[in-house]
Amino acid sequence: MLYSTQNKNHTVSFKEAVLSGLASDGGLYMPVELPQLPADFFVQLRGKSFSEIAYEIAHALLAADIPDEVLRRIIDQAINFDAPLVKLDEETYVLELFHGPTLAFKDFGARFMARLMSYFMRDSARELTLLVATSGDTGSAVAHGFFNVPGIRVFILYPSGGVSPTQEKMLTTMGGNITALEIQGTFDDCQTLVKQAFNDPELSQKLFLSSANSINIARLIPQMFYYVYGWTQLSDAAFTHPVVFSVPSGNFGNLTAGLMIKRMGLPVTRFLAACNANDIVVEYLRTGAFTPRPSVKTLSNAMDVGSPSNFARMLELYGHDAGAMREDVYGVRCADEETRATLKEVHDRYGYVLDPHGAVGYFGLKQYRAAYPTPCTGIFFETAHPAKFPEIVEKVLGIPVEVPARMREYLQKEKHAARISNNFFALKQVLMVS
Ligand SMILES: *Cc1c(COP(=O)(O)O)cnc(C)c1O
Repeated sequence: MLYSTQNKNHTVSFKEAVLSGLASDGGLYMPVELPQLPADFFVQLRGKSFSEIAYEIAHALLAADIPDEVLRRIIDQAINFDAPLVKLDEETYVLELFHGPTLAFKDFGARFMARLMSYFMRDSARELTLLVATSGDTGSAVAHGFFNVPGIRVFILYPSGGVSPTQEKMLTTMGGNITALEIQGTFDDCQTLVKQAFNDPELSQKLFLSSANSINIARLIPQMFYYVYGWTQLSDAAFTHPVVFSVPSGNFGNLTAGLMIKRMGLPVTRFLAACNANDIVVEYLRTGAFTPRPSVKTLSNAMDVGSPSNFARMLELYGHDAGAMREDVYGVRCADEETRATLKEVHDRYGYVLDPHGAVGYFGLKQYRAAYPTPCTGIFFETAHPAKFPEIVEKVLGIPVEVPARMREYLQKEKHAARISNNFFALKQVLMVS
């Protein structure tokens, strides 16, 4: 059972929460109860494979909703790439979350959600039609995550000229059940169009519409898996100090997944909310006041969020008490010049090439250590591959960034996108005849 953050009495099944994404009252779904796992549950996972660990966590959460063999199949298909923990020094580790098809951690959420939705649609006579507005990363992860998944069609709306050339290739070269719509307008126009489609009675009659954005609870679950997997990869020596995770954050889905797995028993001392200049949550932690404001552009653009949606979930976890949240979460703001300096520092010191988002994560850890000098074992997330941001990384480091083979492949494929205006009737026409 899950409840809406807008109304504790509004509860739904896991299936309904996954298929609808957002609650009808505008709230986000939260589990009514998180299972409590004993410390030795986690200790016994050390040395196990990523997929075995993922299965154990998923089973603890979802055994009542999904048969074990289905859960195993979903995990084997969704979590079919690694998340290695790389040691930089005795107390600093980077968890690489970019080994999926679109080279960012959003692959975990999108791939898992796709297969869950497909499972829940298995007896439905209608196909599920997903509409996604994207400024880049989410759309590519969704395009790849849902490609060829039975029972689901996806329409991706992206702003013409508003995504990077690489991102555009990742969005527009799939074909099959994935349709890219190049909107002559801004990202906000794309979001408005999606909202208009959901509110259109004729469309809702004809199509079974849903969304695949980051508020879906299905995306948070696989993100818990890699906190545990990263933790199990630490050596005995590393466990002599308290463990801290530094999470580059924008919409706060990643960090919220961490807080949930801690609540289930994973022994983590602190989570660092590592933000760029869009530091609304950092400010909340400092002042106790949550004041969303328009986002500003930064080097870590996937974190340029002025009103983080998952904050509603964080508030629920801590009973709306800033003091209680502060016990678990420490906020750090990283300015663009600090992001650049960190890219350089980590490369000079360790020979490791970060992307701008991972740099914010490393910076968070450094600031935390300055504030709390007692030794800790720090794991920070590298949320994207540096080759996704060559303009920034190559300029700062003065060296070429190696491009992974799977990325070179996309770049060679041909773009297929229908160009439409930002007028709702243009979108409606496409959907009505689809
Ligand atoms: C989406 C994204 C983030 C932010 O994650 P949230 O869960 O929204 O906080 C960080 N880094 C990269 C590369 C991303 O794509």
